[in-house]
Amino acid sequence: MTNDLYARHRSVLPDWLALYYENPLEITHGEGRHVWDAEGNKYLDFFGGILTTMTAHALPEVTKAVSDQAGRILHSSTLYLNRPMVELAERVAQVSGIPDARVFFTTSGTEANDTALLLATTYRRSNTVLAMRNSYHGRSFSAVGITGNRGWSPTSLSPLQTLYVHGGVRTRGPYASLSDAEFIAACVEDLEDLLGHTRPPAALIAEPIQGVGGFTSPPDGLYAAFREVLNAYGILWIADEVQTGWGRTGEHFWGWQAHGQSGPPDIVTFAKGIGNGMSIGGVIARSEIMNCLDANSISTFGGTQITMAAGLANLTYLLEHDLQGNARRVGGLLIERLRALAAQDPGVREVRGRGLMIGVELIRPGTDQADPERAAAVLEAARAGGLLIGKGGGHNTSALRIAPPLSLTVAEAEEGAAILENALRSTQ
Ligand code: PMP
Repeated sequence: MTNDLYARHRSVLPDWLALYYENPLEITHGEGRHVWDAEGNKYLDFFGGILTTMTAHALPEVTKAVSDQAGRILHSSTLYLNRPMVELAERVAQVSGIPDARVFFTTSGTEANDTALLLATTYRRSNTVLAMRNSYHGRSFSAVGITGNRGWSPTSLSPLQTLYVHGGVRTRGPYASLSDAEFIAACVEDLEDLLGHTRPPAALIAEPIQGVGGFTSPPDGLYAAFREVLNAYGILWIADEVQTGWGRTGEHFWGWQAHGQSGPPDIVTFAKGIGNGMSIGGVIARSEIMNCLDANSISTFGGTQITMAAGLANLTYLLEHDLQGNARRVGGLLIERLRALAAQDPGVREVRGRGLMIGVELIRPGTDQADPERAAAVLEAARAGGLLIGKGGGHNTSALRIAPPLSLTVAEAEEGAAILENALRSTQ
């Protein structure tokens, strides 16, 4: 029983392990874009297992690759040659857009960002790092230290000196009324101001669209403008593509490409969806940066054969079925549909997004204040209607987050929008 499990969860796991819903869900199985809970309820999944189920639940191609590999051997060490790891690295390097790319696999996004920081700080001989306000980069000591989202950064101690840059949130405060060009100019001025008062940082780490931060949408070209400033100082750009990579944003394969005028980032990190649920993370960098570490290195589980087999099958499916194009088409329809709903709801500040990464920002009507209570209520109402969505934002989580598996059909998009419409109506 779920409730019994909840009591056991509460008594043995940390209090700070966040759970959705008053009566938390226990997901037992899935298929396509649907999942089922322990009580047999079926849900349309608009949160993609928090973006880990990139393609589809129980995708036969991935299931087969995983079970074939498990039937052969479960083995892991970077001390031996590993065929699926080399093959996936070749594929990832090929689609990365980074010249002379090297790929290092990890087990999570956190560890990928840790590795990126290790590379950047070693390469630049500086432990000062620029990060964005409202950002989320993971749970390790160093990743927490570069996480600007106050709700998710529990410690102020850090092995790094971090300076936070504006650029993530523009829905409220002094930046809200600026045009795109004015916003970019103001953020660049803020960055230049920071750089004038510090030792040269190693890198700027940024999510092209902030994920946990509420699927914020910086104007196209923001990071290209930052890049010009960074280049003048020799500062590296690390794009955290943990949520935005692999075609999710529809128009582009990587989130950074909306800002790509000045070329690819120096380092890209990825995780979540590439394994379609298997834990793969990784770092891509041109070889000069990747090879700046001269110590021997071993990762026991980074690149383990079973996760690499899943990643290869998933990436092949994703590319062969043009799921990026599907994200663009179906996501575009969904955004339009949600904007029409929002026009009739004074509590919706904006519907924003790209492809199948869509944020719906809620405010108290007639004010500019976040409405986290309604966001929580909409989540509950959507669940009751058979739809799973997420939420995010700053310390007031008042943005609904929609990120279904990329194989979402038009009919499912319509069905989900209708459930969300009811959930919004019933909570007005
Ligand atoms: N970066 C971003 C942008 C993320 O959204 C997350 C996870 N929410 C992470 C890093 C950390 O990834 P993981 O949970 O796999 O460690």
